[in-house]
Amino acid sequence: MKTKLRKLVLCLLLLAASSSLAQTETPSPKTVLFQNVRIFDGKSDKLTEPKNVLVSGNKIEKISSQPIPTDRRADTVLIDGSGRTLMPGLIDMHWHAMLVRPTPTSALSSDAGYLNLSAGAEATDTLLRWFTTIRDLGGPAFGLKRAIDEGLVAGPRIFPSGAVITVTGGHGDFRELWELPRVIGGQLVRMETLGASLVADSPDEVRVRVREQLMLGASQIKLTAGGGVASPHSPIDVATFTEPELRAAVEAAENWGTYVTAHAYTPETIQRSIAAGVKCIEHGHLMDEATAKLMAQRGIWLSIQPFPNELADVFPPGSDEREKFQEVLAGMETAYGLAKKYKLKTAFGTDVLFSQALAQRQGALLTMLTRWYTPAETLVMATGTNAQLLAMSGKRNPYPGKLGVVEEGALADLLLVDGNPIEHIELIADPAKNFVVIMKDGKFYKNALPR
Ligand SMILES: [Zn+2]
Repeated sequence: MKTKLRKLVLCLLLLAASSSLAQTETPSPKTVLFQNVRIFDGKSDKLTEPKNVLVSGNKIEKISSQPIPTDRRADTVLIDGSGRTLMPGLIDMHWHAMLVRPTPTSALSSDAGYLNLSAGAEATDTLLRWFTTIRDLGGPAFGLKRAIDEGLVAGPRIFPSGAVITVTGGHGDFRELWELPRVIGGQLVRMETLGASLVADSPDEVRVRVREQLMLGASQIKLTAGGGVASPHSPIDVATFTEPELRAAVEAAENWGTYVTAHAYTPETIQRSIAAGVKCIEHGHLMDEATAKLMAQRGIWLSIQPFPNELADVFPPGSDEREKFQEVLAGMETAYGLAKKYKLKTAFGTDVLFSQALAQRQGALLTMLTRWYTPAETLVMATGTNAQLLAMSGKRNPYPGKLGVVEEGALADLLLVDGNPIEHIELIADPAKNFVVIMKDGKFYKNALPR
């Protein structure tokens, strides 16, 4: 009897497994041939001469100036590029997929189902703006990532950090003052149970929180080493984590084959992070010459954002947050100057939070970089260069394969643009009008060519 029962359970389990496979199975790989396209390859400052690009499954199989023969099977799709530009997916290295649309209050008070569905809608918009990959630097994005990867909802590839890890009162601690004091080992507060941010006040606590994010599938770890603009309690000048606390996070991440990126504006917090083994600095807008030199010597990444003036309007007039933002903005010119002077490995991101309107301008935020870089340098940064930083996740990279480039063997995240974005980078700012074909992972998400 027992064996029969066991057999029955096994059968049911197998059935369940095969039906869930059927639901998530991707359609059989298609062959797609882009003909007569000029390529921006994510590395070079020029477009190529007209070429043909063959996509097989989710990868670029062949690129050639000569015609590429296809077997003309029913599932082969021919795209006549008519000399348009084919380029790799844009990458936003500082994004918060779960925190774009809600206000801070609604992020903390809405139920998780609503927050996930709203993040799903935003993820689809993000993909249609041609950001095919985002590095998520804080927020409970694991479920969203899984749904996108399974094809339940259209969206970008997500490199998740999971919850931001901060100290009591640090950037990312959104508790109200009446919620203090915390009982160590006591109940978690809402921002923690949601997985948005976690408070850790000792190396041991940091280790636990980091390991939890890694267990959930984080591809890198994000800590806040100093004060931040949008936090209610942390002044911008403060250093928060101690060096041993930062080092505990670095050890745990490196044991897991990946790295820590630290939110840090000031020289002190940047330098302390580097001393602890942090490999990438988020923001860095208030850095000085000595810090830039140190970053260059150690090969530390700078993941900095071109903040627009109107971001100030997110914060009420006269608020601390608004004042802190003005301080950060004042440092931006110097920071980009130092990044260029010391040839820092510099990544592009936007850090859009709590504003769907600003998110819609994600491409326009990228074009702001032309204050300091040529359009070609700007596009290379948002594609090939950003992809190099993504690769630091090593074996924790959720999407093995090359991103950010158009070359044989790379993952097929391809955009056909009506025009030459190297001459007219403003094309990137109007996706609905200028983006003709959108393909991610070999699948079409838009094809506006006449058929
Ligand atoms: Zn951020």
